[in-house]
Amino acid sequence: MLDYAVPEELSGAAVAGALVACPLGPRRILGVVVGRDAPTHEGRLQPIAGVVEAPPVAPDLLELAAWMARYYVAPAATCLRLVLPPGGGGALRRAPDGSWRLAPPPSGPREVLTARLLAEPGDAGSARRRKVAEALHAAAGTLAAAAPGRRPGTPMPTVRAMARAGVLALEAARGAEAGAAGPRSRPPTLTPDQARAVAALVAAIDDGGGPHLLHGVTGSGKTEVYLHAIEAARARGRGAIVLVPEIALTPQLLGRLRARLGPGVAVWHSALTPAQRAAEHRRVREGEADVVLGARSAVFAPVPRLGLIVVDEEHDGSYKQDSSPRYDARQVAALRGSRAGAAVVYGSATPRPETWRALPRLSLPARADGSPLPTAEIVDMRRQGAGPVSRPLASALHDAMLRGEKAIVLATRRGFALMALCRECGWIARCPDCDVALVHHDRPARLVCHHCGREEHVPGVCPSCHAAAIVRQGTGAQGVERALARLVPMARLVRMDASSASGRGAVARLLEEFARPGPAILLGTQMVAKGHDLPDVTVAAVVDADAPLQFAGFRSEERAFALIVQIAGRAGRRGEPARVFVQAPEPAARVVPLGARHAVEEFLDGELARRRAHDLPPYSHLVRIVVEGEAADAVARCASGIADELRGAAPAVRVRGPAPLHRLRGRTRAAILLAAERATLVTPHIRSTLAAWEGELRRAGVRAGVDVDPQET
Ligand code: ADP
Ligand code: ZN
Ligand code: ZN
Repeated sequence: MLDYAVPEELSGAAVAGALVACPLGPRRILGVVVGRDAPTHEGRLQPIAGVVEAPPVAPDLLELAAWMARYYVAPAATCLRLVLPPGGGGALRRAPDGSWRLAPPPSGPREVLTARLLAEPGDAGSARRRKVAEALHAAAGTLAAAAPGRRPGTPMPTVRAMARAGVLALEAARGAEAGAAGPRSRPPTLTPDQARAVAALVAAIDDGGGPHLLHGVTGSGKTEVYLHAIEAARARGRGAIVLVPEIALTPQLLGRLRARLGPGVAVWHSALTPAQRAAEHRRVREGEADVVLGARSAVFAPVPRLGLIVVDEEHDGSYKQDSSPRYDARQVAALRGSRAGAAVVYGSATPRPETWRALPRLSLPARADGSPLPTAEIVDMRRQGAGPVSRPLASALHDAMLRGEKAIVLATRRGFALMALCRECGWIARCPDCDVALVHHDRPARLVCHHCGREEHVPGVCPSCHAAAIVRQGTGAQGVERALARLVPMARLVRMDASSASGRGAVARLLEEFARPGPAILLGTQMVAKGHDLPDVTVAAVVDADAPLQFAGFRSEERAFALIVQIAGRAGRRGEPARVFVQAPEPAARVVPLGARHAVEEFLDGELARRRAHDLPPYSHLVRIVVEGEAADAVARCASGIADELRGAAPAVRVRGPAPLHRLRGRTRAAILLAAERATLVTPHIRSTLAAWEGELRRAGVRAGVDVDPQET
């Protein structure tokens, strides 16, 4: 934060929130006025160069950014950037008339067209047209019309000629996805449970806001509740923000919002081009759109007179940003909602323990169409052969594929930490202090608690059944893919994970590929459990249901449970008979039977008791400091020094570590974990300690990053 003087002639324009051009050495950089004070050291401040011709940041967003910088111990500039209008990456431009402007987004406004093939690529006509058709087919039909030639082999003149010849249809799309702009659809009559939930939310909108949990099984009509609440907010002249974990995974939602709410719905997420983003920002700011749908960062949308914030799938870890500022959109939503007097609704079939404990609950206990929730069949993997796909699952997949149906198979994450497991009884090595699975490290072989740093030998025999059957285990998605290709050769395999689903539009493409007629299996990481509404799915399976337990984090139980329940909810959504399999090497692990019968309440009550016993969130707040650098000794010295200083500084704060972490990209890392009743009891000490260490860290080539309320430890 820097101080500048405001020249007399700019005084009227340089209000709080105004964007300004500030001299910094020879450059002029973009600044935001966060406050005006009477000059304290007269004459020594540099004056600002000008006020940028752009709407000022609204006071509530300015305040939100300031709160984030404090709460998350993050640089003010990175927090402010989140609330600025997009464009130019903060670059300034001096217009010929001397005024300052934000540099326009790199590629100017661009019309996005969706091209839909109406013929097989082979029937497209000339060789040139066939080439275009093939390129379109591969791209699942989307290309940007103002950038002909950007996708190789799709020159715009040919595309337009093909449209005239009826080989393909061109439609204008708004934002990144084509939203159905047809006639507005009529809402169904609410069930009594839905009506009660809507009434509670509307009362909150009228009574100055407040948060609620909407706990509803998959397919229970939560979206319908959101839609009614948004309509109610609108009727009162208030706007709404709808947050989803990842917009590409919920392609139907935008269409549903537009079909019901009309064109005043803006979309907001990282896959938009800068020009699209700027256009959507302007529509929201100017009141043309009063509902914003987006991922995490949409919580900063400048919606005026905010009346409602929806956080859908609130259990999803992607609401927490994993780079600085490490904010949690769920928490930012709570704060923004309370300042704006807006109702905030957190929806999930598998709510977090935090939400369950703290918020008033609205519940939708049954599917809206009355179809039963499929009960999962638990497969004891100790009784199965070596491969990652059990006999019952293989045969169910086989039958479903013969009938031309579809299946979803969830495999463990890639790059998983491995655990020590007894092949005989399913015993898993856990830390006695933290009650999380120990991670099996190699060279030298040892078990390490990633929570507290405790190290143990790998036992020669199982402490529980005395069999010499301790193995290091974890199944990767690629191994499952190979097994499926062999066991169910007639299925089209669509793998969706961090590597296959990266890049703009990749997820939508994979989902379309899966939805194409014919037998198909969607295989992947937790992403596949999120896709909202996939048709014809009659088999759903978790290959390694207790795999998240390998994650040595305190949320591993919560994650494992949510995955089982969520994957079961993807099957049989149109009332088709469906089978759900939960494969587990440790079928007695609490989460497995509870997840298989959707026993959310029972799971959460037990989980909260465990969290309380171990002083874990929500009974404490955690702050994690990761110290990293190239020189191992420097990292160790700085990490212990910082930990010791924090121990001395705040007796009410429990300080654990430093604990070693895996080396990452050649850098040695160590983590310090702090726990306190409230984060604000810890963060001021961290800020001052790190400030005191700043010079030392810089000399040692070591960095320290702070993560307040980390998702994992
Ligand atoms: P969720 O968001 O909880 O998964 P949705 O809102 O998507 O559930 O609803 C699941 C399905 O049930 C959708 O096809 C939706 O149109 C339908 N539905 C929701 N509420 C009702 C209702 N009150 N009457 C009839 N159908 C409904
Ligand atoms: Zn054993
Ligand atoms: Zn431990």
